[in-house]
Amino acid sequence: MPDRVETADVAIAGCGPGGAVLGYLLARSGIGVALIERAATFEREYRGFGWNPGVIRLFDEMGVLDEILDLAHETVTDGTFSLYGRDISVLNFDVLDTEYPYALMMEQPSLLEYLVERADTYESFTFHPSTTVTDLRVEGNGTIQGIQAHDRKADADVRFDARVVVGADGRYSTVRSRAGIDPGLFESPIDLVWFKLPSGAIDARTEGRINRNGILLYFGLGEGELQVGYPVLDAEWTTIREGGFSAFCNRIAAIDSELAAAMHRHLDGFRDTTLLDVSPGNAATWARDGMLLLGDAAHTASPIGAQGNPLAIEDAVVIHDVLARGLRDSTGVVPEVTLSEFETRRRPTVERVISLQRRAAQNLAFWITYGQYIPELLVRGSATAFSWLVPRLPPIRKSIESFALGDRSVSVTQSHFIE
Ligand SMILES: Cc1cc2nc3c(=O)[nH]c(=O)nc-3n(C[C@H](O)[C@H](O)[C@H](O)COP(=O)(O)OP(=O)(O)OC[C@H]3O[C@@H](n4cnc5c(N)ncnc54)[C@H](O)[C@@H]3O)c2cc1C
Repeated sequence: MPDRVETADVAIAGCGPGGAVLGYLLARSGIGVALIERAATFEREYRGFGWNPGVIRLFDEMGVLDEILDLAHETVTDGTFSLYGRDISVLNFDVLDTEYPYALMMEQPSLLEYLVERADTYESFTFHPSTTVTDLRVEGNGTIQGIQAHDRKADADVRFDARVVVGADGRYSTVRSRAGIDPGLFESPIDLVWFKLPSGAIDARTEGRINRNGILLYFGLGEGELQVGYPVLDAEWTTIREGGFSAFCNRIAAIDSELAAAMHRHLDGFRDTTLLDVSPGNAATWARDGMLLLGDAAHTASPIGAQGNPLAIEDAVVIHDVLARGLRDSTGVVPEVTLSEFETRRRPTVERVISLQRRAAQNLAFWITYGQYIPELLVRGSATAFSWLVPRLPPIRKSIESFALGDRSVSVTQSHFIE
């Protein structure tokens, strides 16, 4: 027997970007929402911090962009990387067909907190932090009718009765696993090592650097911090760690000596680094009677191309429309036949993005493995040709633009808003 029972039209498990945006949109549409989050605070290390022009357009359609721009962030107006010291511009945002020719680098905590605060201004919204979803409430015929959870602060078991459960609980989704749905993970040839430095520690902007000794990714986060990513081959990190932290800094020094010196000054060994598994995944189904999966729970994103946040937020925008109509036009639990409209609308985009990310991961793995064997003169020559070709080759250009603009058919259905 639960210690407490809560009732809502929609119970959302997980307050990442997908869950927070969906909670806000449903609340603003007068729909009863319980947003349930395991963590006690919004603090989170190493989560997606890139927000592309497509997401910025959606924030504007949601009526939250001006206030989001008041939060700490950095603005990026071009995408560049340095190949053997030669700067190559892969994307000038000014040439994109968008009213929002920039990306934002912003950490998730302040954004999530803001979205929950906005949602909380609507009576139909409740937020449940420190509450872990432990199971689904399933009827004999398999229909999902709600969630079982544990409120750690009150030390109470809570039952959430809902007409729809949305699993927005990320890569290791409890909702997905309790529904018996496989995450559909793909093998990845690379992993990513991350660490943070104070922003003044080195002279770097948001960019990538490639030379024959490896690849480095730099992201300014707008809160006095610079985040650095170092792709390694799958399973290579164990060997790197066995070699010791100084040897690791020497590897980095071969790509950027200034960065290696800053690592010695600012990092307390390997404990200040994090390895992230970048395997993407795509579950075979995202909808059941009374249940939907969104964002990483439905299709786990690789960090390549910064697509995880846009995909989760686009999902939330489409689900808002599907649920607002589905809840209005029926009574009781919303059936799979209604909910699967979301999957029909979103699956082609998600499959295309995952396929591009997997190809990019293969290319990175090739470079990490063989880059050192390519004669330096040849690479320097190719860099010149490359710098001209990359922004002009139609397939490359099209992929980069689609990464930047997201799915342009997705738009916020403002007619569902109550004000
Ligand atoms: C290192 C790294 C860098 C990345 N960089 C980028 C980037 O720059 N740009 C980009 O677009 N994407 C990036 N991504 C991907 C992006 O972070 C994710 O795709 C995105 O956060 C997915 O959003 P989501 O709402 O689906 O899930 P998540 O953000 O994973 O949120 C899930 C939430 O559910 C909660 N939760 C989990 N289990 C439970 C439970 N049982 N009960 C209650 N709550 C639960 C979690 O605490 C979490 O708050 C990156 C990912 C990584 C790992």
